[in-house]
Amino acid sequence: MQPPIKMGIVGVGKIARDQHIPCIAAHPGFKLRAVASRHNGVEGVPSYTSLQQMLAGSADVDAVAICTPPQAHYEVAKSALASGRHVLMEKPPCASLGQLDGLIRLARTAGRTLYQTWHSQHARAVEPATRLLEQRKVRCVQITWKEDVRRWHPGQGWLWEPGGFGVFDPGMNALSILTKLIPEPIYPEAAQLFVPANCGAPIAAEVELRTDSGIDVHASFDFRETGPQRWNIDIDTDEGAMHLSAGGGHLTLGDEPVPDDPGSLDAEYAAIYRRFHELITRGESDVDTRPLQLVSDIFLVARQIPVESFTD
Ligand code: NAP
Repeated sequence: MQPPIKMGIVGVGKIARDQHIPCIAAHPGFKLRAVASRHNGVEGVPSYTSLQQMLAGSADVDAVAICTPPQAHYEVAKSALASGRHVLMEKPPCASLGQLDGLIRLARTAGRTLYQTWHSQHARAVEPATRLLEQRKVRCVQITWKEDVRRWHPGQGWLWEPGGFGVFDPGMNALSILTKLIPEPIYPEAAQLFVPANCGAPIAAEVELRTDSGIDVHASFDFRETGPQRWNIDIDTDEGAMHLSAGGGHLTLGDEPVPDDPGSLDAEYAAIYRRFHELITRGESDVDTRPLQLVSDIFLVARQIPVESFTD
């Protein structure tokens, strides 16, 4: 049996604590060796304040999970790959497609695994929905991704900085599901981005997309939802309506709910670590660039509409 892959985590915040640390502990093929975070450590694990210090102090780290906000991904991933480590990146990948392309090339020349994760693609109803859609013709799609930023992202000022993506930080999850459900090319035709006067990223967006074969997709993203939180994708097909809710967690066909497999957000990250282990073992990378491409294209076609300042 192979010894466990020694993991280092960069950026100890909410997602590192909620998902990465427990999932690494639960997978026999991984061991958490060290962490690097400017202000946060993990008890019982060597804790450093930068990637460079971590790689110097715990030189046997084999792979790095990058759990910082997206603005910091590129420099960390570049250094980790250049020093011969495998890399797993949280979503959103980087601040630009150019940076992501650079990392893909570097992973190839360094002969190391680069895994760009999209946790929502592992939500429990996404795979069954994808299989069903292989047998159906899609007529149109409505995405409704509306949540209260004050409830889910308190104090995360990086969201509002350029490269933080604003409402597209969670919105990219919907787009990552869309690109899995509909493999053909998708592009935005028009978009409105609602940008608070004091922010560098949108708080809401209305987007019209279209696929190569002419399927219309309308997407509404909003960070100001104080009522029921909605992470839904409604798909009208030639064999009836499909309704994905709970961020891809539940599927309803017409009025009939499809029984759920047991699972949760934890199952999404368990699947991510299974996939990362498989990729390292096979010497492969897995980078789906399409969700970032869509957001990048949306910013290109969008009209920006100023709205009132945002206070956390
Ligand atoms: P977070 O709570 O703000 O944690 C990120 C950590 O990264 C911070 O605690 C900070 O720790 C470190 N960091 C390094 N460079 C930073 C910078 N320039 N600005 C701010 N922090 C920096 O964020 P999070 O919720 O864990 O999200 C991190 C990433 O995971 C995001 O890309 C997000 O989209 C993704 N994600 C989050 C969730 C979720 O439920 N929260 C779910 C899925 C994916 P130090 O100050 O100690 O360096």
